[in-house]
Amino acid sequence: MAHVIVITGPSGVGKGTVIRLLRERMPSVRLSISATTRAPRPGEQDQVDYHFLGAEQFDALIAEGAFAEHARYAGQQYGTLRSELEESAGEGDVIVLEIELQGARQIRESMPAALQVFIAPPSFETLRERLVGRGTDSAQTIDERLAVAREELGAQDEFSEVIVNDRLGDAVDALELLVQGQLRGAVD
Ligand code: 5GP
Repeated sequence: MAHVIVITGPSGVGKGTVIRLLRERMPSVRLSISATTRAPRPGEQDQVDYHFLGAEQFDALIAEGAFAEHARYAGQQYGTLRSELEESAGEGDVIVLEIELQGARQIRESMPAALQVFIAPPSFETLRERLVGRGTDSAQTIDERLAVAREELGAQDEFSEVIVNDRLGDAVDALELLVQGQLRGAVD
């Protein structure tokens, strides 16, 4: 079985950057490409950043049982396709799921052995600054994401591993240690 690592945390906390830097250090770590109904942002590529799907296609895949987890987030659907997990089913493979809270809870039920990591911001205000500074979302979307973020931050106690992304390098170090610990745990 592969090692599944779930990484959750509010939008704007820097999950994507932390994971990208982890993969530069540990190239064997695969990232699951999620499916979503949201529109691609400038520069995002289909099949690379997400599988961008229409709402009907997404619903049909739900009906087929194609998702390991799925959730609605800020008015759009997001989900992890089982096929993504099956591609990394080898012994010693590591696959990272970068997903929101509801999806993380579903994986906690279905795959209790998965490592669950919550990435937290140093403060709520830094989240707002990062979302505004990223410049990729409208003011309304940012407000919606901040409302969800408040709820997500309230759930961090559910996670045994919480990394505060204050200094990026420290956050990547902490995640690397956790992943290596998870890999060693399987060998010992
Ligand atoms: P964004 O639209 O900013 O790319 O993602 C919005 C939120 O959806 C983020 O918190 C991201 O982690 C989450 N997300 C991305 N892919 C998935 C997925 O496959 N499942 C779930 N449950 N959440 C996802």
